[in-house]
Amino acid sequence: MTRDRRRDDTRGSVTALRGNFVAATGRHRYGWGRVNGHHTLGKRMQITEPSRQIDVVHATDVLVVGSGPGGLAAALAAARAGVEVTLVERFGCFGGNITTVGVEGFAWYRHEQTVEANGIGREFEERAKAMGAAVPESQSLSYELDSEGFKIVADHLVQEAGIYPMLHRMFVAPIVEGDRITGIITESKAGREAILAKVVVDATGDADVATRAGAPVVHPPREELQAASVMFHLAGVDKARFMEDVRANPQTYADWSTGEWTVETDGKEDAMFSPFLKKPFETARKAGVIPADLTTIAGTWGALHDSGEMTYMNLVHLGNCDGTDPNDLTHFEMEGRRQAMLAIEALRQFAPGCEGVRLRNFGMTLGVRDTRKIDAVYNMTETDVRQQGRFEDSIGIYPEFIDGYGILILPTTGRYMHIPYRSMLPKTVKGLLVAGRATGGDRVAHAATRNMACCAVSGQGAGIAAAQAVKTSVALDAVDLTAIQAELTRQGVRYT
Ligand SMILES: Cc1cc2nc3c(=O)[nH]c(=O)nc-3n(C[C@H](O)[C@H](O)[C@H](O)COP(=O)(O)OP(=O)(O)OC[C@H]3O[C@@H](n4cnc5c(N)ncnc54)[C@H](O)[C@@H]3O)c2cc1C
Repeated sequence: MTRDRRRDDTRGSVTALRGNFVAATGRHRYGWGRVNGHHTLGKRMQITEPSRQIDVVHATDVLVVGSGPGGLAAALAAARAGVEVTLVERFGCFGGNITTVGVEGFAWYRHEQTVEANGIGREFEERAKAMGAAVPESQSLSYELDSEGFKIVADHLVQEAGIYPMLHRMFVAPIVEGDRITGIITESKAGREAILAKVVVDATGDADVATRAGAPVVHPPREELQAASVMFHLAGVDKARFMEDVRANPQTYADWSTGEWTVETDGKEDAMFSPFLKKPFETARKAGVIPADLTTIAGTWGALHDSGEMTYMNLVHLGNCDGTDPNDLTHFEMEGRRQAMLAIEALRQFAPGCEGVRLRNFGMTLGVRDTRKIDAVYNMTETDVRQQGRFEDSIGIYPEFIDGYGILILPTTGRYMHIPYRSMLPKTVKGLLVAGRATGGDRVAHAATRNMACCAVSGQGAGIAAAQAVKTSVALDAVDLTAIQAELTRQGVRYT
């Protein structure tokens, strides 16, 4: 299918679609064309999929789809609230972006004055620390999770809570009766399977379940979305030499404003230390190691281990990527790897201590920050996250931490917001909650709620609410909030 769009780099094959599509081959009947030597369809063509019988392989009280910080917290909270829980995940491990992308900075915003919900988010850090899967984080009073080690941490948490695990199953369709979701259909090596549930929690990050079930969602055009990133980890860093250079040339959050980006802060962030890398890439561009027009390589490093491993390299930023479009995902996985290798070469040549570095691994998948959000019963606003929003239906607090769309506000003051239950309730579909980064809110609200610890807050609230609805046979929009808040307290969550 041809697509008329621009990308911010002109080397990718997709940009080439524009001029080349008209070079049609002999297969005119179906509108085939040829793009970069591959056949492609020139106009919309459809087939009818035959209807079929599908085995119901499982039934449960609460079904959580997606196991990132939102889904994992939802499943744990619901199970601990005393109902049967099933956790469906398309990949072979739980943890979402933590384990599949390699996003390790779970609470890098934490400073002395920061107030938090605690609960399962804090437990992720503490448990990882106890299991040797976390190290002190360089810019905050938090622990950086080890993306590989957290796979084991999550396995333990899931098993201990008695959650029924279903890995390697991709949600593909909802089962809907009237205006109510009653289960899902998955695809796997076993083909299509049906799973029935009393309540479904959509924690796919992209609101896949809500969208397919017909709930209204906000899906901004790709040029308005936050950049995607190919994340990678390195081996072979000379730690002493690298840290000597960091101390000699300390970077701050003010350095985030480069020629390419401008970052709005409160001012209080500007002089604070940030593990930021920019200079080696500027030098590399001048030296021709990185093409002069590739100005988006820069960013943060994560943990630097005594073994010489440097992880959570957040250096590649890919604009105009819609993470729900597999053509975009294909293009940017490959383009991101290409840029990562340029970044590594630049580090080798121009970053003291990195002369001997090599790629240890890429994340299992492209890191997508931003796609669909549900149009919820209440959509959080910029004012809510900037002005300490307060709500009667709070299911947890989150510190005043805003990171995204060119804003960086760190919670160094003790200010915080409430997360309202209604921001997880889709407007139309019954029996469904949405937890994690797809909850309802505007752009700036999303820059706060998308953060992993906040996803764990919404997840824990969603799990408890789902369990409460099941136990009392009450609809999700009529569930007893006092009972939910009592269970939140029992589970160690601060919500006021
Ligand atoms: C490169 C990058 C860097 C980031 N840095 C930070 C940071 O430093 N600190 C921070 O707090 N946040 C950071 N974020 C944001 C944060 O990682 C996400 O917003 C957060 O992980 C979202 O949590 P979630 O549970 O909603 O979704 P995810 O973590 O995306 O988890 C969703 C899960 O659902 C599964 N899934 C999706 N679709 C389906 C389906 N159809 N069927 C079955 N399973 C499915 C996925 O495989 C995944 O496991 C970063 C994000 C990126 C991409």
